[in-house]
Amino acid sequence: MGIIKDNNLNNDTAFQNKKKKVVTVVGARPQFIKEAAVSPELRKYFNEVLVHTGQHFDYNMSEQFFEELSIPKPDYNLGISGGSHAQMTGKMMMAIEEVLEKEKPDWLLVFGDTNSTLAAALAAAKLKIPICHVEAGGRTHCMTNPEEINRICTDHISTLLLASAQDGFDELKKEGLENKSFLVGNTMYDAFVKYSNVRSISQLKLELLSGEKVDVPEKYYYLTCHREENTSEKNLSEILKAMNSLNYPTVYPVHPRNREMVLKLGDFSNILFVKPVGYLESICLVKNAEKIVTDSGGLQTEAFFAGKKCVTVLDFVCWPETMVDYRNELSNPVEKEILEKLSHEQIIDENYKPFGDGKAAEKIVQALLEKSGQVM
Ligand code: UDP
Repeated sequence: MGIIKDNNLNNDTAFQNKKKKVVTVVGARPQFIKEAAVSPELRKYFNEVLVHTGQHFDYNMSEQFFEELSIPKPDYNLGISGGSHAQMTGKMMMAIEEVLEKEKPDWLLVFGDTNSTLAAALAAAKLKIPICHVEAGGRTHCMTNPEEINRICTDHISTLLLASAQDGFDELKKEGLENKSFLVGNTMYDAFVKYSNVRSISQLKLELLSGEKVDVPEKYYYLTCHREENTSEKNLSEILKAMNSLNYPTVYPVHPRNREMVLKLGDFSNILFVKPVGYLESICLVKNAEKIVTDSGGLQTEAFFAGKKCVTVLDFVCWPETMVDYRNELSNPVEKEILEKLSHEQIIDENYKPFGDGKAAEKIVQALLEKSGQVM
């Protein structure tokens, strides 16, 4: 890939006017983090129009990320959330189509695997707008996982597929998409490199669901849990029983999806049930935790970046690269199994870095420039 070298290009009015237009669509927490990593680089060479679908809307699931990470204010906020998958995706498609017809961008840029990703990609494909999919090729091979459907459909209608790690790139090859694909590295790693030293654990205060503010315990486990699969009373109570029986307390920021069930399940005295924290707080909690238990794709990679042992309560693999040397192990939502997997000691090979060099954003923008015929 070629590289644009002239940093003054940015200030040149003629160049500003010649810049191609990218509409970026985000909607959910992990996409705000990826946007924070990519947008500053993208805006050097493209005019970006940012669309927030509204899929995540609580202050601490959305606005806080824009504020803390200095993400530009969205040009459009579509205010669409809730309902069934089809209702949400359908409403988003209609609203995004209107934006795309008005803005007439040269590219649509989408991240990951949410309903916002799929809706935007479908709307753009029908308008013949080229699509750039960041985090392409991730496959769990589990078609009951709603995100798997979003990932596969988005990849197959995209023009430019940017994989975060070798496994995703290989999946794209297997599906005959190699000629549109590049391996660029993981934008979550870019974000981790950029932001993981911003907060220090001693400054951190946690807000319990009751509103009371508490300190972070000196030693603790970190739990996040929000997948559809783990919102049931049976699964969630097994996970909580496991965490409650550990030698140190667990810090658990409760995702809005699980809040009602958590309140129903009642008291677990060794767990701090806290409101969702911002990204800077979350990676600080990851870095200082004893071990991590999660069902989140992003958290599994962050545990890996921080060298923390992780147990993933899912029955499918999201990031095969992390599943080495006991660093990340799958568990069923069963108390005994979670505890057993958690007791395994990991082995860390410092030279093993499957998620790139923290410069995925630069490679994404280079790929976009190249495909746009703009490399100088
Ligand atoms: N995260 C956060 N606050 C929290 C819990 C998680 O900022 O209270 C961050 C976490 O560090 C990771 C991202 O949210 O960067 C993961 O998002 P999520 O679990 O919602 O989605 P997934 O990664 O499963 O798609």
